[in-house]
Amino acid sequence: MYSLELLKREDPEIAQAISDEMQRQNDHLELIASENWVSKAVMAAMGSPLTNKYAEGYPGHRYYGGCQYIDVVEELARERAKKLFGCSYANVQPHSGAQANLAVEFAILKPGDTLMGMDLNMGGHLTHGSSANISGTYFHVVPYGVDENGYLDYDRLMELAMENRPKLIIAGASAYARTIDFTKFREVADACGAVLMADIAHIAGLVATGLHPSPIGVADIVTTTTHKTLRGPRGGMILANEDAAKEFKLNKAVFPGIQGGPLEHVIAGKAVCFKEDLQPEFRTYSEQILKNAQALCSSLMKRGVKIVSDGTDNHLMVIDLTNFDETGKEVEKWLDDAHITVNKETIPNETRSPFVTSGLRLGTPAVTTRGLKEADMDDLAEAISLVIRNREEGIGPARAIVAQITAKYPLDLTEN
Ligand SMILES: *Cc1c(COP(=O)(O)O)cnc(C)c1O
Repeated sequence: MYSLELLKREDPEIAQAISDEMQRQNDHLELIASENWVSKAVMAAMGSPLTNKYAEGYPGHRYYGGCQYIDVVEELARERAKKLFGCSYANVQPHSGAQANLAVEFAILKPGDTLMGMDLNMGGHLTHGSSANISGTYFHVVPYGVDENGYLDYDRLMELAMENRPKLIIAGASAYARTIDFTKFREVADACGAVLMADIAHIAGLVATGLHPSPIGVADIVTTTTHKTLRGPRGGMILANEDAAKEFKLNKAVFPGIQGGPLEHVIAGKAVCFKEDLQPEFRTYSEQILKNAQALCSSLMKRGVKIVSDGTDNHLMVIDLTNFDETGKEVEKWLDDAHITVNKETIPNETRSPFVTSGLRLGTPAVTTRGLKEADMDDLAEAISLVIRNREEGIGPARAIVAQITAKYPLDLTEN
């Protein structure tokens, strides 16, 4: 349902940019921890005529006529999401992870109320109370973080929570490589009387396949994206049990609270992705993500590259560049020139600005979809360490390694 040929005729400028981007995706190794490739079936759903339909409201309760088939799509998406995560409520309408989080914050908090979230500089997300985000502007934010070893500091979290009595605690991160103990967050939330929300945007695929402990039944509300480890269309979702969904009026918080008409073509893509995620192959894929992350991490450490918390339990790792006296900004650029895509990342106790940073975040979900295995991770680690150790001089040799890997695993991004 997406045809580049047609686009070439109708809008050659956009068609050219899309085909250049396809080329880039093929020629580079994608290590951005939050990216992935969707199946052609997901792509087909997203490029479908469902985009033409207004469907404000929810299945069976719409503000527009003609929603009988849209209802089938959204109901399937909700049912599959509930099955995938083992819960009794799913809202598949949030346009993104940020929208899912804003909806929950809108449901629980009034302006000025206290919110606790992980510090952005220590691995948290903008929507968990950063001053640059609405969550850090409308609410009183008390950030928590990690200890000197890079692990979540649950004792300090408890102290801060008892001192500040937040109304909402958000557990979850964008750059935290260790298992999150949701039961410890539950103890803290119970002790201070807070609502607990878990944001599993990054680890959702691992949670769905039982490779990371699930917050379902532990946290009151769970939010996620659908385009990271779940390997679905770009979007968000809210999960809970029915009684919590009613108590906090979660449906109303999404629509009409913060959104208008749902993106039903994307919701169709979510339904297709959840069906894929329920297959045994998805569990095998998720296991391979972890094996690749272990292999990449140990191959880097073997080459003298420092990793925050000295390892990883999940799909990502954060490199600490301070012993090479390099910045995340510089190394991100050199790696890009070597056709390895990563993002600069702040490290615990960061001394540089978020635009410069002293670290890099690397993740294996996308390269695992591409087909790379443990042995390839060692080659990839060699390429990365060539760049880190030799700076500009390392770019050429690293690029040669990347070219071998990309040729071995070509991407098929064509229609059908
Ligand atoms: C990616 C991410 C989000 C936001 O998702 P968007 O779809 O980019 O809005 C929210 N929370 C966490 C923890 C994330 O990693």
